[in-house]
Amino acid sequence: MIVKPSIRSNFFTNAHPLGIQKMIHENIELIKRLDPYEGPKNVLIIGGSSGYGLATRMSLAFGAGANTINVSFENYPKGQRTGSAGYWNNLFFQHETKQLPTEHFDFNGDAFSPEMKDHVIQTIKETFGQIDLLVYSLASGVRKNYETDELIRSQIKPLGQPAHGQTIDLKTLVIEDLTVEPATEQETQDTVFVMGGSDWHDWVTALDKAHVLSPHFKTISYTYIGGPNTDAIYRGGTLGHAKDDLEKTAIALNQLLKTKYQGEALISSSKAIVSKASVFIPQMPIYVSLLFDVMLKHHLHETTTEHKHRLYKDMVYGKNRLVDEQGRVRLDHREMQPEIQTEVAHLMNSFDEATFFKRPGTKLFVNEFFNINGFNVPDIDEETDVDVDDLVEIYQTDKYQNI
Ligand code: NAD
Repeated sequence: MIVKPSIRSNFFTNAHPLGIQKMIHENIELIKRLDPYEGPKNVLIIGGSSGYGLATRMSLAFGAGANTINVSFENYPKGQRTGSAGYWNNLFFQHETKQLPTEHFDFNGDAFSPEMKDHVIQTIKETFGQIDLLVYSLASGVRKNYETDELIRSQIKPLGQPAHGQTIDLKTLVIEDLTVEPATEQETQDTVFVMGGSDWHDWVTALDKAHVLSPHFKTISYTYIGGPNTDAIYRGGTLGHAKDDLEKTAIALNQLLKTKYQGEALISSSKAIVSKASVFIPQMPIYVSLLFDVMLKHHLHETTTEHKHRLYKDMVYGKNRLVDEQGRVRLDHREMQPEIQTEVAHLMNSFDEATFFKRPGTKLFVNEFFNINGFNVPDIDEETDVDVDDLVEIYQTDKYQNI
């Protein structure tokens, strides 16, 4: 089939497999050029098929020589449907690891379910015996409550009063004015249920009970803090409430892990990037484009892969950990420099639509949005027929299972 970009409400409904194959290869080659580090041996990643979870997995496998198990929820190709970007990311990641002496497994299904937890625990027992790192990098708009069978949806809304701003329609590249009404109490609670820390806590508890955590076991999850440029829609809104809950969970888990394993639970505040989840947040496409612009200008820009590699090499397993007064690992220190935030605020307040799309930061933002779905990738001819079934036949292995 000929695969052309198909975008609805800033969400790609398809992916270009060959573009993804090239992006995965290039990111892995990038990691191989960066300094390696002594890290964990056996890692479980929840949400490792895209964005921060994928960058984490690539760094740990190719930078630290770790074995990995990834749990993600992606669409397989079917008929005229290409399958989601994350499906192909997993497939081509698996293929690239064939050159390594380590082992890598992918389970596709609902990480919130008890069945997935049981399956993963069984696999750990049969393969690595124990894990020494759990990375919780899940981003979802919905979570099934397995006790009541209800589907609970998260909401990206401000609290108390409406938030006014602008966003980009990434299909048409048109700037749209935006007013987001405040969330109700129920919507806030639902967002905490979906994106807060309770499932991370459930995973650690289940792994602990099954005796598959090694001495000095670590776990980490990712938060976003931001500042006045994003507060109304992010930290001061429903997502901020969920992140407060996630951060509290880290403190609770840390107590358990310290006493029982001499281990630790960490929360890292990461910078704003282009991911499937982030482009969906109102106002974020404008903020991130202008942030990229300012960071490029000051030679502070890092790719998603470089950012996560630095987290593990320097801060989680290295000696350069930056921690704030709440104990959070501040990988976002470059984004949060006051002069960077002030410059971005100035651009946002004097927003000029005529020049916005010509800015290097905006061009990078839009290009990455296409790239993470396999489009606009240099040397990939989107006019050429792609035999999706053939690719599945060649690359799908029994280490990639639907649960
Ligand atoms: P993403 O959308 O790129 O990845 C989300 C991952 O979660 C995918 O692997 C997806 O398959 C998986 N997933 C979703 N629902 C699932 C389910 N029910 N079961 C199993 N897997 C499921 O997201 P991202 O932007 O990389 O976000 C990851 C984490 O990083 C989130 O906690 C997010 O808040 C945080 N973070 C993101 C940014 C950013 O700018 N993107 C900044 C700071 C922190």
